[in-house]
Amino acid sequence: MIENSWQPLPIQRESGLLGERVSLWRNHRLWHMAESGYLIDGFEKRPGVHPWQGEHLGKWLHAAVLAWRVTGDEKIKQEMASNVERLLATQLPDGYLGTYDSESTFVAMPERGAVQDDVGKTLKRGGWDIWTHRYNLYGLLTYEQYFPDERIVDACRKMADLLIRVYGEGGSDITHYGTREGISSTTLLESIMMLYERTGENAYLEFAEYMVEAIENNPGHELMGTMLDGGSVVKPGDGKGYQLMANLLGFIRLFRCTEDQRYHEAVIKGWEQILDKHILVTGGPWTRKMEYNGNVECFAYTADFDPKKIYVEGCCDATWMQLNIHLFELTGDARYMDEAEKTLLNSLYGHQHDDGIKWCYYTTPNQSAMEFTPRLHCCASSMPRGMEMLSAHLIGEIDGAMSINGLFPFTAELPDQFGEGSVAVESDLPFGSSTTITLQGLAAKSFRLEFRVPSSIDLETVKVNGDDAAVNKNDRGFYEINRSWEEGDVIDITYAGRLESHIQAGEEGKAWMAFSLGPLALAEQVKGDTQPLSIDCSIPVESILRSVESDGQNIRYRIEGTDIELVPYYQAGTDATGTRTYFRVGNMSKEDADAIAEAVAERDRLSVE
Ligand SMILES: [Zn+2]
Repeated sequence: MIENSWQPLPIQRESGLLGERVSLWRNHRLWHMAESGYLIDGFEKRPGVHPWQGEHLGKWLHAAVLAWRVTGDEKIKQEMASNVERLLATQLPDGYLGTYDSESTFVAMPERGAVQDDVGKTLKRGGWDIWTHRYNLYGLLTYEQYFPDERIVDACRKMADLLIRVYGEGGSDITHYGTREGISSTTLLESIMMLYERTGENAYLEFAEYMVEAIENNPGHELMGTMLDGGSVVKPGDGKGYQLMANLLGFIRLFRCTEDQRYHEAVIKGWEQILDKHILVTGGPWTRKMEYNGNVECFAYTADFDPKKIYVEGCCDATWMQLNIHLFELTGDARYMDEAEKTLLNSLYGHQHDDGIKWCYYTTPNQSAMEFTPRLHCCASSMPRGMEMLSAHLIGEIDGAMSINGLFPFTAELPDQFGEGSVAVESDLPFGSSTTITLQGLAAKSFRLEFRVPSSIDLETVKVNGDDAAVNKNDRGFYEINRSWEEGDVIDITYAGRLESHIQAGEEGKAWMAFSLGPLALAEQVKGDTQPLSIDCSIPVESILRSVESDGQNIRYRIEGTDIELVPYYQAGTDATGTRTYFRVGNMSKEDADAIAEAVAERDRLSVE
């Protein structure tokens, strides 16, 4: 068993943009979901009305328990306890805990429900029953970490034992259930590994490894083998983005528990490829329906990029964040957290309406209008989990060092090893140019304190109590100060976000340019159709964009020679406006155009092999 290198410490509260955004969920969406009746109805009055209705309760529980951990809100605690009791009361004697009628469960139709329609509209029954159990296990086991209760663990055992009876050795093939060669069903891996971690019972580890065998024996899935061979993420399970990444989450836990390097290598190769080819300037994983994959939520080749035709599914944002956060815990490496943070600040916030209730299912980087909806859908239940997980990782401990992870404003109480006082981080991040860290009520202690500066931000000065401090950047990308700390110590940090341009190649040899300031992607706020504009990519970004406003959260840049203004991407899409994030590149030299075309061809050649 490999322990995580980086261990989170609980915070008391977040403030600034992070605090505003996570509070919208905690004060509004959390209750909108809880009071809808939709979370528990499908279990109490089987069958439910929607094939994957059962996922919402587990997702809600995961995010709600992390919300409670920060706020200590008694009302959230009671609402969770009541939902858990009601859910447990619906478990059947054989362990079944889904929302289907008895003829449609995975027990009754273990290899049916190979339903091809991911939108689910024509689906009357079958197909998503394992998926519900995956989220029940996830939600209940997370809840039980903070509210220990053997009855909950027993309910999880019973669910898993039933799944083993149906899909364990000598049983049905789990990849013949669900969608896209079973890639939706094998997301169960992570939840089964959570149960193994909780109980230490070998039967669950054996079942997880048996599921991996089923994955590898199905040529349409074969996720591990494909990654190890350098194959494309466009292939396994048709490259279904959300579910493919959720399978990698299972591999991370398998690696931690077995120390089998193949799992680790498969995850890292998958992560590198997704980052290199399938992540937008907003941090959103993009997908597109093509002949070779058949669904808008499937990864596509670079040569099929078009900023008006691709999609970012909210569930992909959340799962990409989870993948990065778990890799960060494993290694303490800043680059994973940089990615999770970028996705949160841009793509995920871009999906969230500021009324606290509505969310987009999809966004498209260049879209004339947003599609916010109060409806309960998979994405709006996934994205709060990403927000809460990031909040749960603002401060931690690694190799005896206090690790401040990103310099966003928060307060936390400190354990004995860090002098048992508290820490307050004050800043306007992702805006502004300075952060102050104050240590209060501290018994004098020597320890290393490290901090991470968000991506594309240059550190300028670090002072402790007004004097320049000796700072080293360690090999995980954190800056560290090693000294004796005492009550009232103040660390002042200044920095500046870099203005950057990004070239994105796409279909028919076209290329686009996008812009960012520090970790924030920039976009034009558009109403209806936009005027075509092509950017000259041969001139430096400082000559393309001119700052016209920089005051707190109000940041505006104008594209020189036009009246087009760019604002932070997450602010651009509203009820009345859409976004233009990518601008066509013009005036390209023949050499540049050939180089981009060659790079795209090379990428796709590698992907196809
Ligand atoms: Zn979704």
